[in-house]
Amino acid sequence: MMKTLGLIGGMSWESTVTYYQIINNTIKEEIGGLHSAKIILYSVDFAEIEECQANGEWEKSADILSKAAQNLENSGADFIVICTNTMHKVVPQIQKKISIPIIHIADTTAEELKRKNVRKVALLGTKYTMTQDFYKERIKSRGIDVIIPNEVDIELVNNIIYNELCMGNINDESRKQYLRIIEQLKNEGAEGVILGCTEIGLLIKQDDTSLPVFDTTQIHAYVSALKSLNR
Ligand code: GLU
Repeated sequence: MMKTLGLIGGMSWESTVTYYQIINNTIKEEIGGLHSAKIILYSVDFAEIEECQANGEWEKSADILSKAAQNLENSGADFIVICTNTMHKVVPQIQKKISIPIIHIADTTAEELKRKNVRKVALLGTKYTMTQDFYKERIKSRGIDVIIPNEVDIELVNNIIYNELCMGNINDESRKQYLRIIEQLKNEGAEGVILGCTEIGLLIKQDDTSLPVFDTTQIHAYVSALKSLNR
């Protein structure tokens, strides 16, 4: 029996599209025929969430996402999939309000890093994801060292996410900057790079760099699809 995934998307919708495609493609690959994923999507207005982030109003954003999660549970979802790395900051608050599990993006990524025997990894994402503990600690707790760019590059990576990628703008110049930063972190000993923001995969692909790429959107969506099949 296929289970139903409750997606909280829209953060931004550019990457929610990718989740929908990967989840359905995974179901197709796994069981074939005309099968497709059972998904309920609750897509929020990202402007409201971004405003909470910028103002440090995390509890307000937790309330918005908790309501979305409760809605999904009441509509029959078996799992919650939050389609952004950053908003996993408020997972503890959301989990308290629901009785179905949240498939945590950092845990799925950490398990993939373990499988590939990565001991030291570079993390790119929003400034919140790169500099705060809510995300890195879940990777580090598996014995994996996490390194991030310098202060100037943290701002650069963050600004490209909000000002370009979340608005659907994919620029060659920004790709060059990301690749420069990835190269730098490789020189500092990174054995892989986490694309720790669900839009970065729109800009950087494995073919662009020799460093193994861990695209959180791909991993999270894939693992979620398998879980809906009890795998
Ligand atoms: N989608 C991004 C992430 O994975 C950034 C948008 C957000 O702040 O939620 O972190």
